[in-house]
Amino acid sequence: MGFDDLQLSDDARLAVQAAGYITPTPIQEQAIPPVLAGRDVIGSAQTGTGKTAAFTLPMATRFAEPGAFRGLIVEPTRELALQVEASLQVFTKFSPLRVGVMYGGVGYGAQTEKIRAGMDIWVATPGRLLDFIERGDLSLNKIEMLVLDEADRLLDMGFLPDVRRIINQCPKERQTLLFSATIAPEIQSLAKWALKDPLTVQIGRQNAPTDTVEHALFPVAAAQKFELLLALLDRTEYKSVIIFCRTKMGADHVASRLLSAKHKVIALHSDRSQREREEALLGFREGRYEVLVATDIASRGLDISGVTHVINFDVPEHTEDYVHRIGRTGRAHAEGDAFTLFTAEDTPFVASIERFIARVIPKRRLENFKYLYTQLLSLKENDPVAKIRVGGGRGAIGGYSFGVRR
Ligand code: AMP
Repeated sequence: MGFDDLQLSDDARLAVQAAGYITPTPIQEQAIPPVLAGRDVIGSAQTGTGKTAAFTLPMATRFAEPGAFRGLIVEPTRELALQVEASLQVFTKFSPLRVGVMYGGVGYGAQTEKIRAGMDIWVATPGRLLDFIERGDLSLNKIEMLVLDEADRLLDMGFLPDVRRIINQCPKERQTLLFSATIAPEIQSLAKWALKDPLTVQIGRQNAPTDTVEHALFPVAAAQKFELLLALLDRTEYKSVIIFCRTKMGADHVASRLLSAKHKVIALHSDRSQREREEALLGFREGRYEVLVATDIASRGLDISGVTHVINFDVPEHTEDYVHRIGRTGRAHAEGDAFTLFTAEDTPFVASIERFIARVIPKRRLENFKYLYTQLLSLKENDPVAKIRVGGGRGAIGGYSFGVRR
């Protein structure tokens, strides 16, 4: 199937061509026709599968002419909101539709002006959207199409009451789409309440991280984590790498130590101002920084193509975050590697990640690295040896792999 078979408007089809997309990804192929036919859809797909275009393209097609504010996309973070807005700008490039984005942490002035100018589609984070509604600047009473994107993250971040208020402000007669990497029971009950007879489109095994990514765990003593990180960076041929830390302080600390080790590095987390965050992302996209050190909240859903490696400096505390972090690499068919450093105290987290993604992550050991003793390293005898790609085609990482008894 090609984009020509998808019944997109001429404007949208032209824009797809200009964007250089040739074939629709599976989620686009499966979600676009029912969405265009007006059905409510639950899209269960990780970021990196092309899910944004699965709703922005039908939106661009459906609202061909400018009119009232009819399309609303709710996003958990400002970065995601900006990214989805950029996608809409691309796909409405040849149409007269007006698209705006609103999020908190910045002044109201510019967004208020845009509201006054009148937009057909808004991409919004919940808090700022409700602010505008309460101030009487904006109404949702003409919404025809509502998209709840990254629904699991909206819930994780405590936005459920806000999301419910937003849905309650929309007309009952509307189309609702819900996208989520993971469909937890709370998401199901939200969907039951907010969607009518939805069609579920599921891409890949649910909860499975992107298939093109090679995963590996690197057991290490806590005291050697940073040393091992440096050694991994030295011996990996990466173009761009995202390093995940659990806390903002941790991220700053790792970033400043990497800077001292002469890496081109920048940190991204929610204590940074909006301008600093945008500048960090831009610099990373443009290759001025090769290493981005980030926390989960700051990085969720970011579309950074060409990321060759993700390194979890800290094992994620919330299991689903593993899937989201790994979704930063291996985006849209490209390959990527995902390394996780893990210490003895992370063992229960690692076990629950493996249960969640329904696979065992191979353990690896870095050759010629002077490991301090950790119990994790002595688990190899008599354990099944996981077969993994030795060297990863990238040279120096290899050595041998070993399984952990469970
Ligand atoms: P998403 O999962 O929506 O965040 O998309 C991940 C990346 O894949 C983005 O960089 C998109 O621009 C890209 N992408 C989405 N759909 C396609 C397609 N059909 N062909 C090529 N690239 C795509």
